[in-house]
Amino acid sequence: MPILVDFARTGSVGPVRCGDQLTALTEVLGPPWATGTSSGHDGLPYLYAYGNLEIGTCQFFCQRIEGIYLQTGWAQFEFELPLTGWSQVRSLPEPLTYRRVVDALDAAGCRWEEFAPLTFDGQCTIRVIDSEVQFGFEVPEEGEPTLDIASVAPPAHRCGPAPDPVPA
Ligand SMILES: [Zn+2]
Repeated sequence: MPILVDFARTGSVGPVRCGDQLTALTEVLGPPWATGTSSGHDGLPYLYAYGNLEIGTCQFFCQRIEGIYLQTGWAQFEFELPLTGWSQVRSLPEPLTYRRVVDALDAAGCRWEEFAPLTFDGQCTIRVIDSEVQFGFEVPEEGEPTLDIASVAPPAHRCGPAPDPVPA
């Protein structure tokens, strides 16, 4: 939960930040544990994973991080992350219910709103206003909605070998 709240507040997960280059990250975290099967214009995969943490990059040579996805659905009780203190798979003591997540966001002073475009039968999504981090919940037939994914994906940057110029 502290990781989720941190993510909601800052839009980053540990050292993983949107806009950074993937190569800078792999120097810190080591090579990704798994890669996606699709590749971009540069012939490189654009999805990389460290356990439950997935990272999307742009599909050009700059390999800038464009999306961060914390998958919590298929591993509700087992969680693996490349962060300090997470040297092994951890079990969550209890499910990440909608109520627990929004209570934690409220307690941390994160303003959030329902995100209608990704709310429909079987799914509801909220968005943290300042960081634009989204929390997607699976709504079961019975019982409480539980967190499926927490993600952020800011608008794509302009791809190119040089860093983006700072806007005037
Ligand atoms: Zn790019």
